[in-house]
Amino acid sequence: MGHVVLVTGGTRGIGAAVSRSLHAAGHTVAANYASNDAAAAKFKEETGIAVYKWDISSFDACAAGIKQVEADLGPIEILVNNAGITRDAMFHRMSVEQWTAVINTNLSSLFNMCRPVIDGMRERNFGRIIVISSMNGQKGQIGQTNYSAAKAGEIGFIKALALENAKKGITVNAICPGYIGTEMVQAVPKDVLEKSILPLIPVGRLGDPDEIARAVMFLVDDKEGFITGASISINGGQYMP
Ligand code: NDP
Repeated sequence: MGHVVLVTGGTRGIGAAVSRSLHAAGHTVAANYASNDAAAAKFKEETGIAVYKWDISSFDACAAGIKQVEADLGPIEILVNNAGITRDAMFHRMSVEQWTAVINTNLSSLFNMCRPVIDGMRERNFGRIIVISSMNGQKGQIGQTNYSAAKAGEIGFIKALALENAKKGITVNAICPGYIGTEMVQAVPKDVLEKSILPLIPVGRLGDPDEIARAVMFLVDDKEGFITGASISINGGQYMP
């Protein structure tokens, strides 16, 4: 039987691949996004998946957005916290705005999104929460003190939430992708990508968003109630924590 699923940042990149896979498997999907109306409209047109616009760095916006999704589609049973941003700079040049934007969007959004849905999941004794973290939260990355801190914080978050809800049929897991070929990575200059990034990936290529989506599909399965508090690395062999 299909579940009601909410995917943050579900209209582009990894999130879009996740939304499409869940939809194809018969789940009722809501795809959230922040500001790119054109991409969201195209995605909705192509897939028929409902799209919802709000900023996940705002608790009030998340509470209102989730209320609307639940009124339209029913209680959220699966939550995929995928949306994230980068604002890279060496720490000695990083502005408070770059720091705050990344922490609020990537890390505080987990409080903002999970807090409104957790009571319902606990009452129904079922839930699947996935966080798309990052290899750079596991190993650190130059120019990304903000991002690495947020992504490492996400891993701590899923472990604590998994423990609190283990007896309630709720699993909470993270996926830590390496370099995946989305617009986020396409923003990296071509020569940096070819000279400095690809040579570090043992598999010899970028990952595909569908390779992340397939791991999400596995973790959200009703039968996978024993996998919780896990961080799954999908990085072409680049980092083995
Ligand atoms: P993209 O930049 O391709 O897409 C990001 C999505 O998140 C968009 O739908 C965007 O909405 C949405 N979003 C951004 N900020 C907000 C916000 N404040 N509120 C709501 N939605 C927001 O990203 P990727 O697909 O590359 O990345 C997805 C996740 O995977 C991120 O958490 C990222 O950190 C992580 N990741 C990515 C890797 C990669 O190599 N690509 C590697 C490791 C981790 P809109 O369309 O409106 O802009």
